[in-house]
Formats: sequence, structure tokens, C-alpha cells
Amino acid sequence: MMEKLRLSDDEWRRRLSPEEYAVLREHGTEAPWDGCFLETHEPGTYVCAGCGNPLFRSGEKFESGSGWPSFTHPVSANAISNHEDHAYGVIRTEVRCARCEGHLGHVFPDGPPPTGLRYCINSVSMKHVPEGAPIPLVVE
Ligand code: FE
Repeated sequence: MMEKLRLSDDEWRRRLSPEEYAVLREHGTEAPWDGCFLETHEPGTYVCAGCGNPLFRSGEKFESGSGWPSFTHPVSANAISNHEDHAYGVIRTEVRCARCEGHLGHVFPDGPPPTGLRYCINSVSMKHVPEGAPIPLVVE
């Protein structure tokens, strides 16, 4: 079981940019084709922009054509948590960081093999850590 990072709303507002706060803490969505990681192919790990929790490996990233960074699977099953989302009259599966509960995006069952899953993730909810660099885990 992952140790959670729990911060007050005030603390999140202090630590996050307005754009990060809107996505991670208010379930916002960045505009398609606008995210900073759409064209990123550098080897490394995408970590949560809120808490530094490793989320996705660069090798699992693929071109989905959706306008958002897309991955076939997370670094581990317990890195993220899935939640049923009924917004906009459709049932989707929301994906959150398992450590800080930050909203990341959604997962859809139309991805490529081997998982058949497409993790559709907001760039602003992640930071890219180059291969070999230390993971900057955020603590209280
Ligand atoms: Fe997090």
C-alpha cells in the first residue's frame, strides 16, 4: 500500500501553478494538442506534477492521435487509482495519482496491444524525469 501525501487545499494552491491546480485538484482538462509532452520521446519517467510519484515510463508512450499524451500502462498497478466518472452524461474511468489523489486523466479500452488500454493523460499533471536522474518525490 502506498503512503499517501495529503495536503490542505491552501497548501496545494501554494505549491501548484494555477494550471496544475485546475487539472490535478479540480479535475480540469487541458486543451487538446496543447500539452507540453505531446512530442516528448526522451527516455525517462513521467511523475505526478503534484507529488513526484512515478506514473508512466517513456517506453509506454504512444501516438494516439487524441491530442493528449497517451500510454499503454502505468509503471505499476498501484501507481494510479481508477474511479468511475459520470461527468457529461457518459461513464468513463478517471485516473488519479494513487499517492496524492491528483486527477491525471482517463483510461479508455481502445489502446494498442498488449494491454488494449489507452491512458489519456494531461501533460500539466506530469513532469518528465530523464533516465538516470533522481525522482523528486514531494514530501509534506
Ligand atoms: Fe501525485
